[in-house]
Amino acid sequence: MTEEENKHLLFSGMDVVELAERYGTPLYVTDENTLKANIRNYKNTFSSTITDIYYAVKANGNLALLKLLASEGAGADVFSAGELELTKLAGIPAEKILFNGNSKSDDDLKEAVESGVRVSVDSVDELRALSAVANELGREVEIAIRVNPDVSPEVHPKIATGLKESKFGIPFHDVIPVCEEAEKLPNILLAGLHCHIGSQILDITVFGEATEKMMALVGRVYERGMQLKFVDLGGGLGIGYRQAEKATAPTPKDLAEMILPVFEKKMRDLGISLKLVLEPGRSVVGASTILLSRVNAIKRANKNFVAIDAGFNLLIRPVMYDAYHEVVVANKVNEQASELYTVVGNVCESGDIMAKDRMLPKVERGDLVAILDTGAYGFSMSSQYNGRPRCAEVLVCNGKADLIRSRESIEDLIRNQKIPARFI
Ligand SMILES: *Cc1c(COP(=O)(O)O)cnc(C)c1O
Repeated sequence: MTEEENKHLLFSGMDVVELAERYGTPLYVTDENTLKANIRNYKNTFSSTITDIYYAVKANGNLALLKLLASEGAGADVFSAGELELTKLAGIPAEKILFNGNSKSDDDLKEAVESGVRVSVDSVDELRALSAVANELGREVEIAIRVNPDVSPEVHPKIATGLKESKFGIPFHDVIPVCEEAEKLPNILLAGLHCHIGSQILDITVFGEATEKMMALVGRVYERGMQLKFVDLGGGLGIGYRQAEKATAPTPKDLAEMILPVFEKKMRDLGISLKLVLEPGRSVVGASTILLSRVNAIKRANKNFVAIDAGFNLLIRPVMYDAYHEVVVANKVNEQASELYTVVGNVCESGDIMAKDRMLPKVERGDLVAILDTGAYGFSMSSQYNGRPRCAEVLVCNGKADLIRSRESIEDLIRNQKIPARFI
């Protein structure tokens, strides 16, 4: 390796400085092998005779990644007709898709029924509407009841979804009556119970707690003479964003050890056999991707600011969830960290801070920064705020790079806008 290359961050064996030159910045770069290893880790940990893995598309809906996950046998958790369409294009079979959401329109429900996917029902209102839609189409639809299990993971409040106060799910104590209503409604086939308690969960004991509660409900469903096909315990497994967390963050194996004994014991007690569904998003894609961004300015003010060409329009997690991402000066990896810097984006908001108070090597205009572990809720939450076209995405594998999403152009900002004739 030359001395120049020695200074450069390698990602999946590729020089990221070269990638930035070839494709421009900002740029999301995903490592295919990491993605593959992560989904295989789930598959190998949870035997496929018991468990189906439904990847949560909202974490990262790039079609190339979905195709790869589909080829690994993953199903999908979708939240909209748009995400459903992506999974169809990726070739994920309808019987492995669950349509989620707390606010589905008639069009959403129609799309779900026509596509033959299962629907996770979030309210009684929705249940009745779904039955009406299914009747109209003359088709049956399998459903799960989204349960609010009332458990509290210690995560950022914006990503805790199983609290009593959360907007998601049917209150725990109402679930049995709702199941009974579902059984009576025409064209509705009760097939599962579903919960999803939150995201970026590092203390996984809450998964045990949620499994206990869900399996207790399963028992009550069977006591009332109803039957199920599956229990879906959602996603939410956290990943190590901080270097120090990487070794201790829970793995799919830890998750399996927490939930499988509870799940299997209840099935034995009841003498039944159900499928377990899991819906990981972040723990499948999070660590597979970096965001490359060019340094536009260094400013020594109240703080030492490093201003980069990616703002919260491309990565909103630091702003929205106070999320931490490691930052690397990608063209100076052989240099000692020597100064404290705050890395900020190019959006016109003082809150547009990517990384606070980080020790980095001396940074200069033109340097390249890599923000790590940005595969989940990165591009998928991006916007065109401040009139900035979204960036490109590249997939790397064994020394090869493929563009998997083109950079948007200024025309893309304008495309759907219309000026009333009277203004012209
Ligand atoms: C967001 C979401 C997931 C995925 O969560 P991760 O934390 O990314 O694993 C799974 N299921 C449902 C219902 C969700 O809303």
